[in-house]
Amino acid sequence: MAGLLEGDIAVVTGAGSGIGRAIAKGFAAVGAKVVVADINEAGASETASMIAQAGGEALSAVLDVTDRASCAALAEIVAQQYGATSVLVNNAGIVRREPITADKANEDWDAIMRVNATGPYNVTKAFLEPLKETKGRIVNIGSIQSHVHTGNAVAYTVAKHGVLGFTRALAAELGPDGIRVNAIGPGFIRTPLNAENRAKTDTEAQFIGKTPLGRAGEAEDITGPAIFLASAMSAFVTGALVPVDGGYLTL
Ligand code: NAP
Repeated sequence: MAGLLEGDIAVVTGAGSGIGRAIAKGFAAVGAKVVVADINEAGASETASMIAQAGGEALSAVLDVTDRASCAALAEIVAQQYGATSVLVNNAGIVRREPITADKANEDWDAIMRVNATGPYNVTKAFLEPLKETKGRIVNIGSIQSHVHTGNAVAYTVAKHGVLGFTRALAAELGPDGIRVNAIGPGFIRTPLNAENRAKTDTEAQFIGKTPLGRAGEAEDITGPAIFLASAMSAFVTGALVPVDGGYLTL
C-alpha cells in the first residue's frame, strides 16, 4: 500500500483519538500529508507527534465541527500551509446512550445532531473548493446504526442514518465535479468513545455475541477501508457505505 496517497493532502476530523487517529496514522504511512483536526488540542498534537515520529508529515489543528467559522478558518490554514485538500474524512463524533424518556434526552439530541449530522456538513462546505480543484474524495464515518438501531440511542441512530443519506446525496451532487463521496459503517470498535460503557456494562459482550467474526473491532480495523475509499483503488466507487463490522449487519 506504500505510496497510495502520495501527493494527497488529507484532513481528518476527530483525529485526536480512536478511529480518526488510526486513519490519520494510516494515511500518513501511505504518503499523505495529514491535517489532524480535533476539538481536543492535546489529542490532536499527540497524533501529529506519533505521525512525525513514524517519519510522516502532519499538522495538528483545533477544530470544532459544530462551529462554521472554525471550519472556514481551518480551510484557510490548510490552504496556506499545505495547499489544496484532496481527501476529507468526516470522523468526529459523540455518543450518548439513554432512553428518550431520560431527563437529558433533549440536550443530548441537540448535541448529537450538531456534532454527528451537522458537523460533516459544516466541514464539507468549508473544503468544497479545494476538493473540487483536486477531484477529491470524502469519507464519512457512519455506523452500523446507519442501517439499524442498537439500544438506547435514538438520536445517534437518526444522526448516523443521516450520514448515509448525506453520503448518497453528496455523491450524486458532486459526482459531476469528479468528487467521490463514500462512508464507512464501523461495528463495535474499542475506542475511548465507549470505554466507560465497556467498563460499566456488558455492551461489548452483547455486540460480540451478534458479530460473526466473534470479536470487537480495533480502531486500526478501519484504516484499510479508509485508505481504499480515499485512494484510486476505489476509483469507480461512490455513494457507498462499506460496513466494517465483523459481519454484524448480516444477522
Ligand atoms: P473517540 O475516540 O471519542 O474520538 C472522537 C474524537 O472526536 C475525539 O477526540 C473527540 O474529542 C472529537 N470530537 C468530539 N466532538 C468534536 C467536535 N465538535 N469537533 C471536533 N472533534 C470533536 O471516538 P471514535 O470511537 O474514534 O469515533 C469516531 C467516529 O466513529 C465517530 O463518528 C463515531 O460515531 C464513529 N463510530 C464509532 C464506533 C465505535 O464503536 N467506536 C462505531 C461506529 C461508529 P473529545 O474526546 O474531546 O470529545
